[in-house]
Amino acid sequence: MFCNIFALIIKIYHSMIKITLPDGSIKEFAKNSTAMDVAKSISEGFARNVISASFNGTTIETSTKLTTDGFLVLYTFNDREGKKAFWHSSAHVLAQVILELYPNAKLTIGPPIENGFYYDFDLEGEVVSDKDFKKIENKFLEFARGKFEFKMRAASKADALSYYKEQNNEYKVELIEGLTDGDITFCDHSNFTDLCRGGHIANTGLIKAVKIMNVAGAYWRGNEKNNQLTRVYGISFPKQKMLKEYLQLLEEAKKRDHRKLGKELELFTFSQKVGAGLPLWLPKGTALRSRLENFLKNAQKRAGYEMVITPHIGQKELYVTSGHYAKYGEDSFQPITTPKDGEEFLLKPMNCPHHCEIYNHKPYSYKDLPKRFAEFGTVYRYEQSGELHGLTRVRGFTQDDAHIFCTPDQLDQEFKNVIDLVLYVFKALGFENFKTQVSVRDTENPDKYIGSIENWEKAENAIINAAKDKGLDYVIETGEAAFYGPKLDFMIKDALGRSWQLGTIQVDYNLPERFDLQYKGADNQLHRPVMIHRAPFGSMERFIAVLLEHTGGNFPLWLTPEQVIILPISEKYQKYAEKVLHLLENSEIRATIDARSEKTGRKIRDAEVNKIPFMIIVGEKEENNGTVSVRKHGKEDLGTLSTHSFISLIEDEVSKILVPFS
Ligand SMILES: [Zn+2]
Ligand SMILES: [Zn+2]
Repeated sequence: MFCNIFALIIKIYHSMIKITLPDGSIKEFAKNSTAMDVAKSISEGFARNVISASFNGTTIETSTKLTTDGFLVLYTFNDREGKKAFWHSSAHVLAQVILELYPNAKLTIGPPIENGFYYDFDLEGEVVSDKDFKKIENKFLEFARGKFEFKMRAASKADALSYYKEQNNEYKVELIEGLTDGDITFCDHSNFTDLCRGGHIANTGLIKAVKIMNVAGAYWRGNEKNNQLTRVYGISFPKQKMLKEYLQLLEEAKKRDHRKLGKELELFTFSQKVGAGLPLWLPKGTALRSRLENFLKNAQKRAGYEMVITPHIGQKELYVTSGHYAKYGEDSFQPITTPKDGEEFLLKPMNCPHHCEIYNHKPYSYKDLPKRFAEFGTVYRYEQSGELHGLTRVRGFTQDDAHIFCTPDQLDQEFKNVIDLVLYVFKALGFENFKTQVSVRDTENPDKYIGSIENWEKAENAIINAAKDKGLDYVIETGEAAFYGPKLDFMIKDALGRSWQLGTIQVDYNLPERFDLQYKGADNQLHRPVMIHRAPFGSMERFIAVLLEHTGGNFPLWLTPEQVIILPISEKYQKYAEKVLHLLENSEIRATIDARSEKTGRKIRDAEVNKIPFMIIVGEKEENNGTVSVRKHGKEDLGTLSTHSFISLIEDEVSKILVPFS
């Protein structure tokens, strides 16, 4: 009773505020409570892990006093926002260290990035090199242990300018000149001050581990006419163990780099003569890629797709009509001219316009729809040379493209069918860990989008229903849709936990309009079909790169270039090895003989390096009994099997994965 009265008095004394949490729960707190107070009310253990917060969609400090009702999100290091605050705060500490070690340095900017953070300094002629990293890290940890609190402070534009003018820091002066008076804040910790918009961890003591990763040159504001600055990259963690794991992951990623594996396994190459960003597929890589294509072709056939083939170029007008010229024209490959005056062709940046014209080759009734045209279509886009990276960023690549033309009523089912196909592909390739993102329009800016509101609602609902129906783990991103329609993207996580964007399914109301696509409805009137663009792999190049890094080159048995290598223990058994080879080949098993006069141990080691799934050893005993001795890659002996049992073993393993699409 007394307690209640006490609570009532407090409630009247302070006014209370209502805080809504992401799980939908609403709790009352005294006005001026902080995000950290809210965290502690959930549990002390949770509060220890909370490192940043946002209130009503705006990043705040965990120490910010909350004075109104609102929606509070608390972040830990596991959240993207949490990492951002952690690494942003770490950039402050790095700048503090550099000023201590290089007192003449001028600070510029230092943002958090995907993995860690950097800071750009004008070192006034001094140099930071690898040899200095240890020294920087030690100083960094020394400051971190000081548990200095990050404190935000507002400043007038005049004060901010005079602060940096006194330091002769023309960079900060330039930044502040672009800011509005009243919007300018500083962050102080220890004896260090920086211009900053906020979003910090509570104090430097949360940073327990740091690694300086790299140092590079960078131009002020990315413009090569400006001064060159020194960019120092680092990464930090709340636990020493996490840094250790991160560095191990980097090591493993290096071993799995698809550029390195692609060379070792002789899958693809690049030639300066042919041109940067234009991959050349070697025989083994081509065979592997064909198997992937055939796998998808078979599934697509069962799913009612029809293959088409279109040329690598098209008249410039085609892409002006489609809108691709406006999007890719200026910054991409320039038109190809011909001896005929005024005639111009473009390398195709997309297959869609060609497929629209395939649709247009004859009139359709609603009974003919959906039409599903598929093509492994090679497209060309001019990536800047600095952006090129192995097979993941290239200038010519082949999309496993298809376009579905359907009635608005068919959209729901077609979308579900495409999801089934994508899931089928991922399963056969061992991508079990993936997330999806539904990109929808921003309803507050209807002018940004084409097509009727009714159609957009239909399409967005079709995607969300399909995602729900198929049990996908999805997030909805408002405002992320293309201007022509909403989409669903698949992000897979590879064996090292890295995210890659692969397949995509997009709804499009734009191209049917631009290409005047029609069908006759049941009402005998002409209507516009809806178009779906989809590519489960995304591109063959990118997919194979991701698959290489995911599997470390240990491809699924059905896909791998060589499934079996036969190792005769001496020349005497070459004949028997050939007999076994023929039996395997008759069952369409990919096998070769290692006929070198090397010791068997050496041959086994080489086969292991080449990641061949099965080694079979043949000698006198095997020849006499018509058997083979089997070793599995990375594993122990499987013992002696009859050749037929061995063939069944492989066939079973392949057919377990390669079930036909249904
Ligand atoms: Zn800051
Ligand atoms: Zn398309």
